[in-house]
Amino acid sequence: MSQANESKLENYLETLLNRNIPVLREALANALKPIPEIKIKDWCEQNLYLPMEMTSRYGKYDMSLTPYMEEICECLHPLSPYNEVVLDAAAQVSKTQIMINVISFCLCNAPANMLFGFSNEEQKNNFVQSRLNPFIDANPIIKEKIFSKRKGEKGDTKSKKMFAGGTLYFASGEAAAGWRSNPCRYAFIDEVDAMPLNVEGEGSPVDLARRRTNTYYGRHKIFICSTPKNGKSKIISEYSQTDMRHYFVPCPHCGHYHEFEWERMLWDADGTHVKRAWYECPNCGLVIHDEDKMGMMQKGKWIATNTEKTDPKKAGFWLSGLYSPWLTWEGIVTTYLEAIKKNLESDMISFYNTVLGLQYKTKSDTPDWQRLFNISQASDWYLGEVPEDCIFLTSGSDVQADRIETHVWGWGKYNRAKLVDHKIFYCKQGEETKDVNSKCYAEWYDNIYKGTWQRKDGLVMRCVLNAMDRNYNTPAVNTFWERVGDPKKFILVRGDDYMQSPISTMKKDKPATNDTERAKSQNKQREKGVYYYYLVGSSYLKHEVYHAIKTEDNSDHTINGLYFLPKDISEEICRQMCAEVYIEPDEKHKNGYWKKLRDRNEALDCVNYATACFYLMGAYKFTLEEWDLIAKRLKDSIEHNNKKPVNRNTQKSQIQILNEGIQL
Ligand SMILES: [Zn+2]
Repeated sequence: MSQANESKLENYLETLLNRNIPVLREALANALKPIPEIKIKDWCEQNLYLPMEMTSRYGKYDMSLTPYMEEICECLHPLSPYNEVVLDAAAQVSKTQIMINVISFCLCNAPANMLFGFSNEEQKNNFVQSRLNPFIDANPIIKEKIFSKRKGEKGDTKSKKMFAGGTLYFASGEAAAGWRSNPCRYAFIDEVDAMPLNVEGEGSPVDLARRRTNTYYGRHKIFICSTPKNGKSKIISEYSQTDMRHYFVPCPHCGHYHEFEWERMLWDADGTHVKRAWYECPNCGLVIHDEDKMGMMQKGKWIATNTEKTDPKKAGFWLSGLYSPWLTWEGIVTTYLEAIKKNLESDMISFYNTVLGLQYKTKSDTPDWQRLFNISQASDWYLGEVPEDCIFLTSGSDVQADRIETHVWGWGKYNRAKLVDHKIFYCKQGEETKDVNSKCYAEWYDNIYKGTWQRKDGLVMRCVLNAMDRNYNTPAVNTFWERVGDPKKFILVRGDDYMQSPISTMKKDKPATNDTERAKSQNKQREKGVYYYYLVGSSYLKHEVYHAIKTEDNSDHTINGLYFLPKDISEEICRQMCAEVYIEPDEKHKNGYWKKLRDRNEALDCVNYATACFYLMGAYKFTLEEWDLIAKRLKDSIEHNNKKPVNRNTQKSQIQILNEGIQL
């Protein structure tokens, strides 16, 4: 090497060292500093402040409201023998604060690389911007360690925060790249049940975190937390491999240690208005009030419930929302009673998962068709008639090889649905529904799309929205839809078993390239050859429909969302509505699936599509007052029309009323 080159290299090394010396010195000092034996709880209470942006209890941090947190934090202490800690819990029990506490402690006392995984990018960015950054700003002890916060230093970005002795990396379940950071000693996984089972084909978030911490094996800490979800739950599977600790609290009267269990909760309510909610001690039977909760929790203790031999390096905790200092028992019971009244399976699942931290046992096993048939014998209307409490109609049609089957459902207050008509439109012999000129399409158009039904009080009604399945013979159904040409009243739908909502936003068929060219050249508002449709959450809706038909109607008839059939309904339709059974998830079917119990099940599809229309119209959001208002306007329109000679136009105006307030 020439002398000139040598001196260049020396200069370079010197600059490099000069630039990094403070950092290197600090990292070295931190590495040599012994980890203090102080408890994480005590250290946090002595050193941390919560900013106003994070909580209503801002100011000096204290753990007194959430005493159950102490042991969880202690298991994550760098000196504790545990390597993995699992928290399966309700929402609102301060899971995130546990992570903030541990990260703060480790960053200041045992710094090393850390990984923080979120379910998605939005959660990640929200956490960093609205919680972590204000928290760091409020805590000089941490702020001075983050590089960007010190003059002339960089290292604070959306995906990481560099600090003296390591880097905190952020990852999301939406991108595998974030999980491929440098080796980490600490990994925190938030809401693992909201993450995909497999992140971009590279494994589960938990596997990815384990891979990242390999280098530190034996000294690593992985914290996995989540509210559980129904079906295949990663948090429950991880928790079941631990010692499964539950939080026991002493009775204020007899001192007996027990858990707060939902099954033992008692209340006095008027409708959904809860006057009081209480608990009875399983030992002495005396009443325990919500106000006793905090005092009991101060003396609470975690007790392992899994006595089988488990990995001694793993600790697991389960916590119900009944322990949350942010929720009252009255509030929890109110949420429950409201979910009962709304009668949606998804609301019950949400209550069990997020409030109780439990899975909800669904009622999706097949309903009894005979019971459905027997109940309908007490109905007071026949097929082709509209019961007086129906405010508007929707239709759902299923296209088969030789016929179109259609259900017309009437909707009313409390989201209750009544079957108004069932029609089958056959093709001529030798024809099939793949031919758009088949007579079944023309008949459907005349009888359903243009069809009218009379309500018992004389109101003439049309279907405000019609949905037709385009899964089968798609080109013919597409062409037919284009011919009808009224996408606000006639929509195409396709079932999607994985969708976790009733109906999607509008989708567009990707036209072939020459179609696009043709459409462009025509430059019309609605391009020819381009078809719009909606995805219908078929599995989601089947769960809801089954949940509803299995619900017993209560005496005051205010439970939401029941389905009723007319007096002359055939046994066949009842059998078709109960034609499928839900099979729970297994290795092969990760989301579970629906199995047909008999060949014919069109009725179940038809009711799904008609229900999807109800959701698309937004009618599920109508308040009782709005339902009453629409009902009154319909009544007024009949009286108004009775004073004038009836003509086609006034009939039309009655129907137009139905469309007011309904935004498609
Ligand atoms: Zn007692």
